[in-house]
Amino acid sequence: MTQRIVILGAGFGGLELSTILSEQAADVAEVTLIDRSDAFVFGFSKLDVLFGRTTADRVRLPYAEFVKPGVRFVQDTITGIDPDTRRVTTTRGTYDADVLVVALGAAYDHAATPGLSVDDEFYSVAGAAGLRERVAGFRSGSAVSWRPVFIGTAFFRFSSLFASASGL
Ligand SMILES: Cc1cc2nc3c(=O)[nH]c(=O)nc-3n(C[C@H](O)[C@H](O)[C@H](O)COP(=O)(O)OP(=O)(O)OC[C@H]3O[C@@H](n4cnc5c(N)ncnc54)[C@H](O)[C@@H]3O)c2cc1C
Repeated sequence: MTQRIVILGAGFGGLELSTILSEQAADVAEVTLIDRSDAFVFGFSKLDVLFGRTTADRVRLPYAEFVKPGVRFVQDTITGIDPDTRRVTTTRGTYDADVLVVALGAAYDHAATPGLSVDDEFYSVAGAAGLRERVAGFRSGSAVSWRPVFIGTAFFRFSSLFASASGL
């Protein structure tokens, strides 16, 4: 029997799962993948945007070009999730699922930290693009530090920016 699998969020988690289902369970899974964006952006690409090595437009990977066969991609914003009925509400409709997967990632709550704005972070593309302007014009008051992050056997440099009150 076919299962209706609705995946919320086409980030790393949602894309990986939809790819596995397309490749290994296409005959039993009817997959709908919902994201508010029309394109994926690798997290580390935001560092290139931040440091002016590329632009926000150039790091976009449109979903239309790589979502897997059998996966229906829907660009829409999710506004409600009912876990009991497994019904999802978006700005344009509703989706019912046999299996509901929530992979909506994380986002900054700027208002929770006094003084923090979208231009003070690089977790979002908009933040990286905004912070780029401020870094380019930066003359004093802040420090940039680098710390290593180990994932499996791979080594990644992961930058952390610390802004002082008088600087960025
Ligand atoms: C600069 C930077 C560098 C990073 N480097 C590394 C690294 O080297 N190694 C590593 O392992 N991790 C790294 N990360 C972290 C990594 O990107 C995250 O851990 C990962 O993206 C989390 O995956 P996810 O699927 O949970 O969420 P996400 O990838 O954030 O995906 C969530 C998706 O949900 C969508 N969404 C959210 N809310 C809604 C809504 N209401 N309606 C519709 N769609 C919605 C978003 O558009 C998004 O596409 C980095 C992150 C950043 C910002």
